Amino acid sequence: MSFLSRIFKRQTNEPELTAPPQPLPERNDLCWCGSGQKYKKCHLEADQEQLTKIREKELATKARRSAFR
Ligand SMILES: [Zn+2]
Repeated sequence: MSFLSRIFKRQTNEPELTAPPQPLPERNDLCWCGSGQKYKKCHLEADQEQLTKIREKELATKARRSAFR
């Protein structure tokens, strides 16, 4: 197994955290995913959840890093 594929494998084992594209659409705009639905009816909630998770993960990573100092 190559070095790169090992890194890739480790990444795929992590829970999926796909950041929504920035800037996010307005609530009544079409969703970025191409479903043809309005953003508020499609990915709005999922994106909010995802962004919260990503933020929490970043904070946890920072906290872990500063604990090592
Ligand atoms: Zn969508």
